[in-house]
Amino acid sequence: MTGDGPNGARTTRILHRQIAGSDQLPIAVSGQGIEIIDKTGKVYIDASGGAAVSCLGHGHPRVNAALKAQIDQLAYAHTSFFTTEVAEELADHLVAHAPGDLDHVYYVSGGSEAMEAALKLARQYFMEKGEAGRVNFIGRRQSYHGNTLGVLAVGGNLWRRQQFAPLLFNSYHVSPPYAYRDQRSDETLEAYGERLASEFETKVEELGPETVIAFVAETVGGATQGCTTAPPGYFKRIREICDRHGILLILDEVMCGIGRTGTLHACEQEGIAPDLMAIAKGLGGGYQPIGAVLLSDRIFAAIRDGSGFFQHGHTYLAHPLACAAALAVQKTILEENLLGNVQKQAAHLERRLKERFGNHHFVGDIRGRGLFWAIEYVTDRGSKTPFDPALKLNARVKREALARGLACYAMPGTIDGKAGDHNMLAPPFICTSQDIDTIVERLGDAVDAAI
Ligand code: PLP
Repeated sequence: MTGDGPNGARTTRILHRQIAGSDQLPIAVSGQGIEIIDKTGKVYIDASGGAAVSCLGHGHPRVNAALKAQIDQLAYAHTSFFTTEVAEELADHLVAHAPGDLDHVYYVSGGSEAMEAALKLARQYFMEKGEAGRVNFIGRRQSYHGNTLGVLAVGGNLWRRQQFAPLLFNSYHVSPPYAYRDQRSDETLEAYGERLASEFETKVEELGPETVIAFVAETVGGATQGCTTAPPGYFKRIREICDRHGILLILDEVMCGIGRTGTLHACEQEGIAPDLMAIAKGLGGGYQPIGAVLLSDRIFAAIRDGSGFFQHGHTYLAHPLACAAALAVQKTILEENLLGNVQKQAAHLERRLKERFGNHHFVGDIRGRGLFWAIEYVTDRGSKTPFDPALKLNARVKREALARGLACYAMPGTIDGKAGDHNMLAPPFICTSQDIDTIVERLGDAVDAAI
């Protein structure tokens, strides 16, 4: 039924994240390529693939065919009884293209679950090794690893944590890379990266290295800070500090992974491999909910040769339909050379964003990598003062963009005032230069209308 709100919106019984105003949401009925069409026939460019999810866009015939074939064969079989060809084939594919010695796969249904499982794998690894005193995770401020309680504890997004803080286990946070605001005028990017890594090592020494399980980080910051890349050398130093103290490195590539930054895994560009890596969004490309943890041989072997049992598990682990979708998405990315298109369009997107917003009075920073870019708003470029959060600028830009047929991810500034509102672009890997021109033009109009 089409309601009488804007764009055919209707009263909803669904508890959407944003409850107030959720009866104003357009009703999406179909999608093709980079576009979503609502019930009134209005067409939107899906310029951030939802939340950096729809890497192949919508209605990809190869993925649709794989799903149809799988559902005719087998929709579900519980993993305590069976494995399936499709889950095994996907695991082989993921491992064949994984960095370092990430030779094993643990399946889940999304990003938060992937990060929860990574935390538990890391803790159990040390239990198997007889190091029960390792109880601490060190994460980064302004990070996001999901909304379940474990990963909320390790995450550093104050706004998402604040109501639940009394329920969260103790964890520790160090500064994230955020050159726009935190690099000193008298230091090079490399020196800034070195300073950040030293802060981590100081925290390790303060806690006692023998108490630390893992360092947890998004390879490229996403949903809290908006496409913040690490200074050159930072992750190499982090890796070296972790190795020296026997600490695991957990990378969260839920948002920035699977080709989003131009290489299949964002950490490839940092020249390091983690011990555990979470992937999700682009894994199933939105065709099915699926996430995974890729884990190193030594973690797998410690559990196999120890208790022989990972003390975890979900009912929908390795769901055949989800695996079928993910396998088709992953093969399509490689076989259609979509990483090549990400790299090509990345340069165009960067250029167009800088042309449109480089001198914009209210845009303080334009940053990103690959097809993963954010713009951060400030009231004044000199002082870099964020807008008053009460203005909800990011949401206003999102609304103005939707009105112009552009769906674009919005993030509020941090509640400690240390980061401004952002909007993020993460278009599907199939996009053309003309698509990007239209995206940037509509976003520019939306920003001007919102401020
Ligand atoms: N980790 C990162 C870096 C994310 O950006 C997100 C979601 O935005 C998550 C974890 C949580 O993923 P999900 O929403 O699929 O649970």
